[in-house]
Amino acid sequence: MQIKKGVSVLKNGKLVAFPTETVYGLGTDAENDDAVLKIFEMKNRPMFNPLICHFKDIDAVRQQAVFNKDAEKLAAKLWPGPLTIVMNKNKKCTVSNIASSGLRTIACRIPSNPIARDLLEKFNGIIAAPSANISSRLTATSKKHVVKNFGKKIFIIDGGTSEFGIESTVVDLSQETPRILRPGAIENKIIKEILPNLIENDDNNMPIKSPGQLYKHYSPNIPLRLNVKDVKKNEVLLNFGKNNLKSRIKEINLSINSDLREAAKNLFKFLYELDNKKYSGIAIAPIDNKGMGIAINDRLKRAAFTE
Ligand code: AMP
Ligand code: MG
Repeated sequence: MQIKKGVSVLKNGKLVAFPTETVYGLGTDAENDDAVLKIFEMKNRPMFNPLICHFKDIDAVRQQAVFNKDAEKLAAKLWPGPLTIVMNKNKKCTVSNIASSGLRTIACRIPSNPIARDLLEKFNGIIAAPSANISSRLTATSKKHVVKNFGKKIFIIDGGTSEFGIESTVVDLSQETPRILRPGAIENKIIKEILPNLIENDDNNMPIKSPGQLYKHYSPNIPLRLNVKDVKKNEVLLNFGKNNLKSRIKEINLSINSDLREAAKNLFKFLYELDNKKYSGIAIAPIDNKGMGIAINDRLKRAAFTE
């Protein structure tokens, strides 16, 4: 029932929020300029930050993008799944130029979440979908979060809590050397095993190619302090693992056993819970910068960014 309504909303050029295995997406028909514009409006997203296009299968991607050898390898091993591949558009590409911010490349993903797949299958088109949150704000990992962001203005397909809780890994294969543009739900090392010449970026060397990575992102309404050694009087604590940190007001632990996957899954949910103007800020415990911790720390650094 939800899928049927979702398909008709998409066919009418409107927006639908839907679950994926990473986070909730705010989707629309990727080939309809007016529909795509509505996404930028609704999210207050800068027009220079392109959207990820979601496809039902690899043949549908082939109709829009040029696969090189690396793309064939990654797609065979990691699709469907939380991997976005940036590829050159092919000559017949019909995706809206607005969705790709006028670039000659296109960001492609085949999600594995059964609801997302069913929606794509029955819509039988391409869904452009960024995360279902207001630009620069906390990412939504449940229907409740989407409602918090957009109220009742859009149709939402409920798929429970997101499996990974953190966005897809974005890999650029549009040039000679493969490069991570955004660390995410698939750990860099898994991609490096398939593509040994992969370049993993650090923050100081962020390519202009991924415009969405350049500014404040994923932010709650109150300030964040990272890698804290102590907690201030009016701060709440987002803890990780076992340590001596204590908040006088409130504390939530991302993972008592220092499990980074569990921490990723809890990250945005707990940030929503702690994001309350009655606190002076959120103190965040150090989180190991390896495996999934790389994506978690990437999000936290941007969330803590102040102009
Ligand atoms: P979001 O949809 O909010 O999860 O963000 C999508 C991410 O993919 C953003 O960081 C975009 O900048 C990036 N992206 C989308 N399309 C492209 C593209 N053609 N080239 C480079 N990065 C892209
Ligand atoms: Mg986003």
